[in-house]
Amino acid sequence: MATPPPPGPYPPHASSPRFSGFPPGQPQYQQPPQGQHPAAFVCDVCGAQPAARATVRGHQGMIIVMRFLKRGGSFCRTCGLATYRQMTSDTLLAGWWGIFSFFITPVVVLSNVMGARSRFRELPPPYGGWRPPLDPGKRLLFRLPTLLILTPIALVLLAFPTLLVIGLLAGDDEPVRVSVGDCVEGSPEVPGQDIEAVGCDSGRAQYRVSDGDSCGPTDYLLSVDHWAEGQSGLCLSPVS
Ligand SMILES: [Zn+2]
Repeated sequence: MATPPPPGPYPPHASSPRFSGFPPGQPQYQQPPQGQHPAAFVCDVCGAQPAARATVRGHQGMIIVMRFLKRGGSFCRTCGLATYRQMTSDTLLAGWWGIFSFFITPVVVLSNVMGARSRFRELPPPYGGWRPPLDPGKRLLFRLPTLLILTPIALVLLAFPTLLVIGLLAGDDEPVRVSVGDCVEGSPEVPGQDIEAVGCDSGRAQYRVSDGDSCGPTDYLLSVDHWAEGQSGLCLSPVS
């Protein structure tokens, strides 16, 4: 009894009966562009040429356990970039959840970017094939998981110079310095003691600066930032 031939390998030509036409508007060469020779590999996914052998990796962190994913084979430029974008994007979303996974995820992402992605990008546009290539979709940079990761990183990176500028601007505000006998107005509550020196007979004086030794129960301790040189342990006593 004759056994039917095993399926595959799939014929790498568009003339195969499996080929049912490319979607309209999607440019597809059916012959090698001029000057380009048929390639050694055909795409495992769509049968187009040329293709490069590469492995795209993924990672899933699940708190205690983790899962390493990989998809290896020959990919044309379009199917390769589609696989790279999908697996890397999924890793950016599902990779971080675990102590080890937190450190493994960036390594996996970088290895995809430096390895598989750059191999696929070196390939010229594919031609031929027995089915349309995978949809490459949006670039990785514009996918939601990438934006979710990059936005906080960008905010942290921006926060440092912003705080530095605020600190420098705030640093210009030298605190008011006073001695025993001076008068001030403002809010003496600590922290954030905000006082201004005024003349004791100006009518605006709310507190008189007194020596710490004569601090009363209703007095406020004066923050050390406001002590004039040579002063110590100052209090603010309400002007009666
Ligand atoms: Zn392909």
